[in-house]
Amino acid sequence: MPKTNNPLSGYFRAPKLYTKLPSGGKFYTDDVIDLSESKEVAVYALTAKDEAILKNPDALLNGEAVSQIIKSCVPAVRKPRKMLSSDIDTLLVAIQGATYGDDIDVKGKCPTCGKECSGIASVEGALETMNTLEESYAFDTMSGLTIEVKPFSYESTIKAGIANFQSTRSLQSLASIEDEMEQLKAFNNSFVRMASVNFDLTVDAVASIRGTAEDGDEFVVTDAAQIREFLENCEASIGKEIEKTIEQISKIGVNKKVQLECDDHGPFEQEVGFDPVNFFTAS
Ligand SMILES: [Zn+2]
Repeated sequence: MPKTNNPLSGYFRAPKLYTKLPSGGKFYTDDVIDLSESKEVAVYALTAKDEAILKNPDALLNGEAVSQIIKSCVPAVRKPRKMLSSDIDTLLVAIQGATYGDDIDVKGKCPTCGKECSGIASVEGALETMNTLEESYAFDTMSGLTIEVKPFSYESTIKAGIANFQSTRSLQSLASIEDEMEQLKAFNNSFVRMASVNFDLTVDAVASIRGTAEDGDEFVVTDAAQIREFLENCEASIGKEIEKTIEQISKIGVNKKVQLECDDHGPFEQEVGFDPVNFFTAS
């Protein structure tokens, strides 16, 4: 908090809670986040201005809203876009708790009868039970390469979100195209664009590829252009294995599952909507 002569400064918001991060800060330099010895960050409640930012759909989509509120509510963070997605998710859960209290109302439909059931999730509980990321994730290919996969950055998540949004919108606009050939062409374009974004995300997720050359020398490739060229020319099974690893890593972080109970069919799992769009409805 900035120092001021304002007699009201003592009444400015104070940290509401402290949280660790799934990354433990392992992947960052000091210009991204300023972590204390305890590896915890202080979390403040949203200001009125932050709440207003969260109501701007464009800013939500391009990641600007989340970047700004994280800088406002977690002063230790300097470059939110450079952080990992799982850390950003965790901070959003913490900010939600700091602003609206520990209890979050959760609703979900019973998978058997469709009845709406409700329960309460605890922010502190979710933060305390988070699992943390390993230093690295790698697998070996049949051909003797070792591929190291890194966790998704928040930047990549925004890219994927925008691509999803555009794809949904262009698919919706398909209905208004009368000519069938034109419709098919538009559908193909949308499909190709989506596939290309997914490929970019896969390339982004590969940290390095190690192997041994014929002369016995070991090599490590970290150059993005070389990794891209390899992925364009390797067997599809390697791409699938990378995607599988990405999926496993993306499950690591704060626990978003909560148990609800149907009176007739017992307990079932429901994902809690901690994402920024839900900030809307919560406020
Ligand atoms: Zn039921």
